[in-house]
Amino acid sequence: MPTEKGIAIIAHDGKKAEMIAFVKDHSKLFQNSKLVATGTTGQFVEQTGLKVKKLLSGPKGGDAQIASMVAEGKLKAVIFFRDPLGKHPHEPDVQMLMRLCDLHNVALATNTSTARLMVKGLEAELDSSSHQ
Ligand code: PGA
Repeated sequence: MPTEKGIAIIAHDGKKAEMIAFVKDHSKLFQNSKLVATGTTGQFVEQTGLKVKKLLSGPKGGDAQIASMVAEGKLKAVIFFRDPLGKHPHEPDVQMLMRLCDLHNVALATNTSTARLMVKGLEAELDSSSHQ
């Protein structure tokens, strides 16, 4: 059986509160998923009681680590709460991550509205697999 693909969560600092509210709203899906996150985002996610694999902090290479997981086929979705108003020293890594999602056809949400639509699909997938 192929190993289950994970979901990555990343939130820029200006979007962490929005990310936490989103994670709490969809806790059933996230409890039943393999979660991975950039370092600080992961610490916030953990505080909600979810299990999550924490990578490096974004500016220290966490986005690049998630990009490499995308390239290796380990992720089915990336939920990236981007702050379009902030300046980010690791913007090149962010661009790389988005490019690799497009290259490998991995679902990528970069705002809450898209993330909400994306998780509807993932929740439906979870429901159908639990009814088999
Ligand atoms: P962080 O990184 O979760 O370590 O804050 C997120 C980012 O800025 O890419």
